[in-house]
Amino acid sequence: MPRDAARVGLLGGTFDPPHVGHLATGVEVRDVLDLDAVWLVVANEPWQKVGSRPITPAVDRLAMVQEATRDIVGLEASGVEIDRGGPSYTVDTLVDLRRAHPEVEWFVVLGADAAAGLPTWERAGELADLATFVLVDRPGLPSPAPPAGWRFVHVSVPRLDVSSSELRDRVRTGRPLDVLVPAPVIACIEARRLYGWGTT
Ligand code: ATP
Ligand code: MG
Repeated sequence: MPRDAARVGLLGGTFDPPHVGHLATGVEVRDVLDLDAVWLVVANEPWQKVGSRPITPAVDRLAMVQEATRDIVGLEASGVEIDRGGPSYTVDTLVDLRRAHPEVEWFVVLGADAAAGLPTWERAGELADLATFVLVDRPGLPSPAPPAGWRFVHVSVPRLDVSSSELRDRVRTGRPLDVLVPAPVIACIEARRLYGWGTT
């Protein structure tokens, strides 16, 4: 991060795998809100998903996000939640980051699905005071209504009807990922044999 960076967005997720919807969202939010950077924060243990399906190891997901962001100015991969270990609570991440970078103003970017669950997040009352929440729409889902008492902005992003779930399904059934996932990420999925690559 540049020494004088003052406004940083956090786009947290499982990124299993990262895709064009994540990237276009990060680029658009950075531009509209004039942020110095948007960090794609890779969840170590995505507590909302654990138990519902197998999660790809965090090191593989971080490697994919590093590949996905490499050539995009202002987007960066963050392994801060992996370094901390354990379940990935955004409130813990913000407490750590605010301590490490006291000069930065933080923005937490959330798609409609994630935003809907915000009040149920770990220590939600504390979390609400630590950042500005940036709500973005996702195709097929209603616009998220922000919970009362949270500081939020709504940013309109390109509506790309892509999800990691659908992409995992594509790999399993031998359909292409091209365009939906950056080429170096596809190479990473192939090299690491993720999502059953090559078994169909
Ligand atoms: P899965 O299908 O496995 O849940 P996902 O595509 O929703 O994966 P996540 O890693 O869960 O990806 O999402 C991380 C963040 O990015 C969430 O805030 C989510 O709402 C947002 N997001 C994911 N896909 C899009 C998209 N196509 N457009 C806008 N935001 C998105
Ligand atoms: Mg999701």
